Amino acid sequence: MNREDFPMLDQDIVYFDNGATTLKPKCVLKSICKYYNEHTSNIHRGDYRPAVITNDLYDHTRDIVKEFINCNDSREVIFTSGTTHSINMVVFGYMKKHLKKGDEVLLTKSEHASNVLPWMKLVEEIGIVIKYIKLDSNHEVSIDNIKRAITKKTKVISIAQISNVIGDVRDIDSIGKICKEKKIIFCVDGAQSVPHMKVDFIKSNIDFLSFSGHKMCGPTGVGVLVGKLSLLEDMEPLVYGGGMNNFFEADNSYELKDVPTKFEAGTPPISEVIGLGEAIKYLNNIGMDKIHKHEVELKKYLLDKLKDIDGVTIYNKNSNSGILSFNIDGVFAQDTSIYLNNHNIYVRAGNHCAKLLKDEINVKNTVRISMYLYNNYQDIDKFIEVLKNKDNLYKEIL
Ligand code: PMP
Repeated sequence: MNREDFPMLDQDIVYFDNGATTLKPKCVLKSICKYYNEHTSNIHRGDYRPAVITNDLYDHTRDIVKEFINCNDSREVIFTSGTTHSINMVVFGYMKKHLKKGDEVLLTKSEHASNVLPWMKLVEEIGIVIKYIKLDSNHEVSIDNIKRAITKKTKVISIAQISNVIGDVRDIDSIGKICKEKKIIFCVDGAQSVPHMKVDFIKSNIDFLSFSGHKMCGPTGVGVLVGKLSLLEDMEPLVYGGGMNNFFEADNSYELKDVPTKFEAGTPPISEVIGLGEAIKYLNNIGMDKIHKHEVELKKYLLDKLKDIDGVTIYNKNSNSGILSFNIDGVFAQDTSIYLNNHNIYVRAGNHCAKLLKDEINVKNTVRISMYLYNNYQDIDKFIEVLKNKDNLYKEIL
């Protein structure tokens, strides 16, 4: 749907790498150009006309995000550089202050590096313990396995709502409920979910939610951390500088501004925040439920077509999202991706930064197709036609 909005699709390509980053619609590109062409200015500093326009657009984006993910207050929305930055803020700004040696954090082995490595650093720094929730035979997270993993020492559950290789949609409403009952902090990596489905911060009892603008039709360089206000008030900034302080004196005294300003030191990614606001408006106009349904239908169609092709191993038939990970038997994932590229089909090959997943699926590298609103049945048909000729793969790429 809406293919005409995406200039990249004027080329004869099949873009199947939306889990890495998405294409940008004209309205987002226009809003960014407008900022640079018509009202370039810094924010929260100038009193002249362009600065006022920019301030309004930047601040209004906070309200747009608030409505989009349904949190209580726009002060709970902090602009970051992306999911990675957001999760690091939580781990080093909040958890480092509140967790102690022996406290347990539950993750899964299908988490992205950015939801594993910061916690590993905290193991090193303060001696927390990471435990991995057992995955089921489909490599998915079950509520029973979560309940089994929780002990008296469990202080945090931090998982992706949709994992980026298996693409399983975790039942965050139920997990949030358990966390609330047991006073466990619930951190959700929304990098692969917020762009693709309706996410409700309040309903799911989330404490911290992280996501990236560039995976949801927005620009690179901007992301969001949404946190409960009471937690954010008790969280330390990782970056200090201009814009986030009330005063500082030569006797080393200083005072920081309130949430969210204290977390946005220096000049923020202004055009990117404006572009993100425009991207969210764009997605809202289409409807998040419609986007999710479309992707799930495309995946069903793709799975159906793949039934006719021998020698393909699929790792996530079951999962209810637009992500499909596979390998051609006996072919290195990267070679498959190069072969597809020769036919203008863009997929991603590798471990997709989920380097612990190999312990679960027994293979290091996979080829990932990740779909978005503008993908269509013709994209899949084209992919299937090329895959049917996979016996030519090595002839073509050598
Ligand atoms: N978490 C998940 C599940 C992801 O898929 C990604 C991006 N691949 C990230 C975190 C990191 O996002 P970013 O690179 O935008 O910080």
